[in-house]
Amino acid sequence: FFLAFEGPDGGGKSTQAARLADWLREDDEFDVVTCRDPGSTPLGNRLRELLLERSELHPTLRAEMLLFMASRAQLVEDVIRPALAAGRVVICDRFLLSNIVYQGVAGGLPIDEIARVGQVATGGLLPDLTLVLNVSRDTAKSRIGAARDRLEDRPESYHAQVNKGFSNALDLMIVGPEGCPYYPSPMTTIDASKDADDVARQIRKAVANALRL
Ligand code: C5P
Repeated sequence: FFLAFEGPDGGGKSTQAARLADWLREDDEFDVVTCRDPGSTPLGNRLRELLLERSELHPTLRAEMLLFMASRAQLVEDVIRPALAAGRVVICDRFLLSNIVYQGVAGGLPIDEIARVGQVATGGLLPDLTLVLNVSRDTAKSRIGAARDRLEDRPESYHAQVNKGFSNALDLMIVGPEGCPYYPSPMTTIDASKDADDVARQIRKAVANALRL
């Protein structure tokens, strides 16, 4: 079973992904693997550094989008597919939806192109469940504080578009060229502005439902 956490920065994805992994591990039935996208492979970690540096990336975001995709391609082949083949539960911090929202909805790259490249990068693999942690920009900012691995140099209008894109993420499952969804992965949106315990409860409920626990 493949689970992805998505959403704007400051929504608590990493914390909640770790909490969910701990919760699932209490049950011996589940062998849980966690990863993050970009990252979690040697190549992916190098690409992540380049992406966070951003100094050489063209403002059209095409190269940026492709580096995220290259990291994801490596992650899928090296980590996610082998884990799924071994019957493990994979929890990934971000996946393809982030590219669609950051570089597409907010950045202006055509979403159908991102979806097509995504199909190539992942070989068509999409999460069995995508949990979108939505949070207002103000709450997010207060949570992010001094965190360093964030691209906070981008204009506030970009972040606003990102937040809006994730809030409307469910639409991406139903609209697309010729009636095909851009992101045909079962998706649940979570109100991540609540306190961490409440958010964790919402997540466990959605996951228990998906795993038929
Ligand atoms: O969530 P994570 O720590 O992996 O994100 C690192 C940075 O990359 C964040 O600032 C996030 O906004 C940014 N990002 C992005 N485009 C993506 C995925 C993440 O700009 N597709």
